[in-house]
Parts: sequence; structure tokens; C-alpha cells
Amino acid sequence: MCGIAGYLGPRSAVNVVFDQLKRLEYRGYDSAGIAYVQGDDIKILKRAGKLTELGKLVGDHPEDVRMAIAHSRWATHGGPTDENAHPHFDRYEQISIIHNGIIENYIELREELMDKGHEFRSQTDTEVAAHVLGEEYGKGVPLEEAVRQGVKRLRGAYALVVVSKREPGKIVAARNASPLVVGLGEGENMLASDITALLPYTREVVII
Ligand code: GLU
Repeated sequence: MCGIAGYLGPRSAVNVVFDQLKRLEYRGYDSAGIAYVQGDDIKILKRAGKLTELGKLVGDHPEDVRMAIAHSRWATHGGPTDENAHPHFDRYEQISIIHNGIIENYIELREELMDKGHEFRSQTDTEVAAHVLGEEYGKGVPLEEAVRQGVKRLRGAYALVVVSKREPGKIVAARNASPLVVGLGEGENMLASDITALLPYTREVVII
């Protein structure tokens, strides 16, 4: 179980979440990644290895992105590779998610989804969760409703953070037995798995 960060506000979001990941570095990790919405696309930057590897990709991102999520991974399902690093997409790349924890029923969910024609790019339990939430989102409901319905199908421990290209002003999070903290700022909000990532930005925090 490793690090989660997310930011929505006037600052350069990719820089903020990268900084927040650095503040979570002490927890240990084997890979890291960032997702942000730009135009009609969700962009994903991710790399196995140290944050300096991810930092090489972050250098090229546009400064005017206002929302981003980020993850440092401690692999439980699937080795520490670029493909297995978070964030992960759903089937149609409408949403992207990061996740701390373990989805215990991921094998049965994966088989059920593969019977419906889903293809997976990674070996992770997290990508299966992304496809489950994506199925709910495909029904045309708002992102928070898709997450609310989707998590009912997941068993295990999780802190999940989800963004959508259809609703670029929103970050939706859910948790069960994994920590998650929301930070409230002036005209900006953020979240993290650990309060240390938020303290340079705000002192007003809500433990979910
Ligand atoms: N179970 C997930 C994976 O292996 C998340 C691990 C974590 O908490 O970093 O990708």
C-alpha cells in the first residue's frame, strides 16, 4: 500500500502532485505515475523505478493543467513494470484510476469482464477495478454515481481516486480500510493517502 495524491485548483496541477508524491517517498515504492485531463484526452505519465524516472516525463507537461492525480506503487499484483504502474484506464479510456490496496475478488471480476470482451494491458487488480467502474460509467451516470455503484462490486481494501475526460473538473475518491485525507484550500482542493503530502498546501484537512 503506497502513495496517492490529487489536486484541483489554480496552481500547475502536475507539479503539485509530483511534489506531493515526493513527500510520500519515505513510504517506499517501486513505480509511479500521474494522470491529467487535457482537451478531450486523459494523459498518463508513468514509469517503473524511482521518481526521478517519472520526473523526466513530467518535465514536458503543459503548465496550465489544473487537475491531476498521482500514485506511487508498491506492487502486490503484477511485477513492478511500466505497464503495471498506475494510473490505469477503463475499457474505453473514459476514466483513469489510481489505487492503494488489494481487490480480493479481482480474478473472478477479470474473468467476467473478459467474457464480455474486455482486454487488459496489465496484470494488476487495479486495472480490473478500473474496468468495473468504467462499465458503470458507460451507463451515462455522473462519475460519483459510477464509483458509488462500481465499488459495490469490489471486495477488499482500497483507496481509489478516479478522473474522467467527460467531467474534467472533478476528482472522485472512495475508500475502504485504506487511508485517504482531503485537504481544503482557498479555491483549491486536494487529497492524499497521508497528511504529510498536504501540509505545505493547507492546514484544513478532512480524514475520510
Ligand atoms: N494492488 C495494487 C497493485 O499491485 C496497488 C498496490 C499499492 O497499494 O500500491 O497495483
